[in-house]
Amino acid sequence: MKISIVGTGYVGLVTGLSLSTLGHEVICIDNDKDKISKINKGESPFYEPGIDDLLKKVSDKGVFYATENLEKSVFESEVIIIAVGTPTVNGKIDLSFIKKVSQQIGKALKKTKRYQVVAVKSTVLPGVTGKVVKPILEKYSQKKVGEFGLCMNPEFLREGNALEDALHPDRIVIGQIDERSGKEFAKIYAKVSAPIIFTNLATAELTKYAANALFATLISYSNEIARISESIEMVDAQDVWKGVHLDRRLSPFSGSTRIKPGILNYILSGCGFGGSCFPKDIQALASFANHQKVEAKLIKSVINVNKTQPQRLIVHLKDALGDNLQGKRIAILGLAFKPNTNDTRESPALPIIEELIAEGAEVIIHDPMAKQEGTPRTDTVEEAIKNTDAVVIVTAWEEYIKLTPQFFKENMKKPIVIDGRRIYDKHSFMKAGIIYKGIGL
Ligand code: NAD
Repeated sequence: MKISIVGTGYVGLVTGLSLSTLGHEVICIDNDKDKISKINKGESPFYEPGIDDLLKKVSDKGVFYATENLEKSVFESEVIIIAVGTPTVNGKIDLSFIKKVSQQIGKALKKTKRYQVVAVKSTVLPGVTGKVVKPILEKYSQKKVGEFGLCMNPEFLREGNALEDALHPDRIVIGQIDERSGKEFAKIYAKVSAPIIFTNLATAELTKYAANALFATLISYSNEIARISESIEMVDAQDVWKGVHLDRRLSPFSGSTRIKPGILNYILSGCGFGGSCFPKDIQALASFANHQKVEAKLIKSVINVNKTQPQRLIVHLKDALGDNLQGKRIAILGLAFKPNTNDTRESPALPIIEELIAEGAEVIIHDPMAKQEGTPRTDTVEEAIKNTDAVVIVTAWEEYIKLTPQFFKENMKKPIVIDGRRIYDKHSFMKAGIIYKGIGL
């Protein structure tokens, strides 16, 4: 099938590459010239494991290219997917990109005589596809739904694991305005073995928020338990979670061996969630609930716990170093919101760095992939931690997990390690003479 994807960010590009791998011809459209020219040179505009190789492969095969020309691409395509951003601005979802591309797609649909399906893949609140996208498409195409199809197909990929998630999804949710729309759209996934759930548009829209809010809730719950653990002498939240995880409802048996489900990664304490999805989606869901006159107390608490969680690392740092951070050299290991990505959006590292600078500390940053404008970072971990008074671990990069107590002792002024992700074995670190503190401890 010929498919156009409007918006070539994380979701648009990864979806485009996986659909072309599945045998479709894909055109990715963006209004960012630099992005388009980079992609057409075989370079991904962002870091994601395996993405450059796949980009070269499908481009060489002639089944994938990027362009700014929306009208021509839509004209040629059977399916048009909307994957532009839906940021949260002042606590509310900003639909300006969605509205703009709906107009542009509508105008292009006007020129075709065939049946085409438009699908919203961007994360949008319940009602947006049916009450915002549909009237715009109808107005600008001068066609009615039925003459073209309309679906809502939420995306569940995780940055850092995006290609695997897109090529082998757990499930495909297709919200359809009518049966024909869903049936035609589902053809793009004909070669994927995942179960397909057909719903109405609003159910598909809410499914995405419900999934993200569930994981965010588990994280904030785990962080609240960490705060309680920290208040009790000799209690470590990490030990608490070991006992909780072994409940067979969380780690079931397969024969005589335990399965370790992915959900356990969300029932662990750390310095909070970040990224381009969880924080903005939970905030948008809370505002939506408010608008619906639903008192979403739990969701609001999830946001509050997360906002204040990075601050816990400063508390631990002061506990080890004293309240006055003026002139102290502090290394931050990790700028990305999680490993295997260079995405720093809403990363817990940002408020920590800001606060340390405000308190007069000298901050040295390292991250294997991520950069932040105006924030210098070192090329090696060794350089970052050299002669520092303390090291704060913010991102659980594999490179950091491998570091030994000896490494910290040899390079730091006084070895103080504040572990925001609990990646080290506290016993061996403490035994080696390191002042080791962290979330939940
Ligand atoms: P992004 O900001 O990385 O990319 C959006 C792209 O759309 C940008 O390249 C921008 O230039 C382009 N764009 C905006 N207006 C345009 C227009 N008029 N014409 C052409 N291109 C235009 O966003 P993203 O992270 O890919 O997210 C896209 C959507 O998918 C959001 O709704 C997000 O919530 C959702 N989502 C994201 C993820 C994720 O992990 N990033 C996962 C699931 C769902």
